[in-house]
Amino acid sequence: MKTVWDKTEGAQRDELFAFNEGYKDFISSSKTERECVAQTVRLAREQGFRDLADVLAQHQPIQAGDKLYAVNKDKDVALFVIGQRPMSEGMNILGAHIDSPRLDVKQHPLYEDHGLTLMDTHYYGGIKKYQWVALPMALHGVVFKKDGTRIDLCIGEKEGDPVVGISDLLVHLASDQLQKTGAKVVEGEDLNVLVGSIPCPNEEKDPVRAAIVKLLKEQYNIEEEDFLSAEIEVVPAGKARDYGLDRSMIIGYGHDDRVCAYTSAMAILQMDKPERTSVCLLVDKEEVGSNGASGMHSRFFENTVAEIMDRMGETGDLNLRRALQRSQMLSSDVSAGYDPNYPSVNEMKNTAFLGKGICFNKYTGSRGKSGCNDANPEFIALLRRIMEEENVLFQTAELGRIDQGGGGTIAYILANYNMEVIDAGIAVQNMHAPWEVVSKADVYEAYRAYVAFLKKA
Ligand code: MN
Ligand code: MN
Repeated sequence: MKTVWDKTEGAQRDELFAFNEGYKDFISSSKTERECVAQTVRLAREQGFRDLADVLAQHQPIQAGDKLYAVNKDKDVALFVIGQRPMSEGMNILGAHIDSPRLDVKQHPLYEDHGLTLMDTHYYGGIKKYQWVALPMALHGVVFKKDGTRIDLCIGEKEGDPVVGISDLLVHLASDQLQKTGAKVVEGEDLNVLVGSIPCPNEEKDPVRAAIVKLLKEQYNIEEEDFLSAEIEVVPAGKARDYGLDRSMIIGYGHDDRVCAYTSAMAILQMDKPERTSVCLLVDKEEVGSNGASGMHSRFFENTVAEIMDRMGETGDLNLRRALQRSQMLSSDVSAGYDPNYPSVNEMKNTAFLGKGICFNKYTGSRGKSGCNDANPEFIALLRRIMEEENVLFQTAELGRIDQGGGGTIAYILANYNMEVIDAGIAVQNMHAPWEVVSKADVYEAYRAYVAFLKKA
């Protein structure tokens, strides 16, 4: 079988396209980690999942078949469908990250320069900075006032909303700029977002800046000092769209890694009374090293599993350690999809292609696999068997030619519990660009792979 398209016909092909409509809605409205968590929780509640915090607060029991979710700092979410077997026998875990590259508004962002007011940003994750200019951008995020009041911001997505953006130098005056290397054509400190140009009357100093400060107060109840306790992300404005004349692909912001997050979440949402406990873990901060309270290095997941086991009568540290050690995980993150415009970065026998199904990466890393989680072949053999039994098309790949670069994922962090972990995911073109591309065939096939894994691993 060459591609997912070849084997997906008739009603199943309709299902493939329908599934992708749900995904397009999800990423179009989930452009921050917090928005991803909120949407995932909404979908989970519709399927009867209960908030673990409520279950614990009300001293309710937890038993096999229960569907639970736990939220951490509004930036991570873990979904559980409790299995028939004790949790200390291990869980089947799907993991993905929900942070994506973007520009974060600084704590002191606003300034005026010759009648234009701008906001200073600090880019988040690895980006080619020159890709992020001359585009309509939206502002998404939260602002917390001193009294704890939370203001949710989403400007630039609704029809009729204004957008903002970063200018690029006109080509007519770019002869010096175009001599620079790609890394220097647009520099990080120059990613300044233009937000206004009308002066405030009777204002001597920085009248346009003053007008924007006034507008923020009047329209959004945000004082300038409130930027100190805010997280505002500048992201590409607009919805995900069908890509290709045959509508076979999706162009959207944040496929990395929300495409794996959504498909993993949809897989667990349809689990019912599994043998082993099913888990879907969606985490923040992967793009910057998985650190911090909402990154994969945080104890959140371990603590959450401990709480559930304790409530089920499997108490104690040893049971928790056994549950983690006996678990198996698909650590899903996007793969570099073959790009006909740049064939030289790949070694063709070990390359991921759009449309050829979920991609398993035995290892990632760089410079001689450094930093990788090298999945055990025993585990890969199990996955081969399951995928074959469930007629799921999969491919295997490396992240490009040796010594072309490389990258890491959250896989090794979970593997530290001594569980079996493999990198898996969906091939993407334009990874980390404002607009990334995936194949609808891979989105659907990854979802099928996740369901197969949760049921059979
Ligand atoms: Mn990723
Ligand atoms: Mn990434």
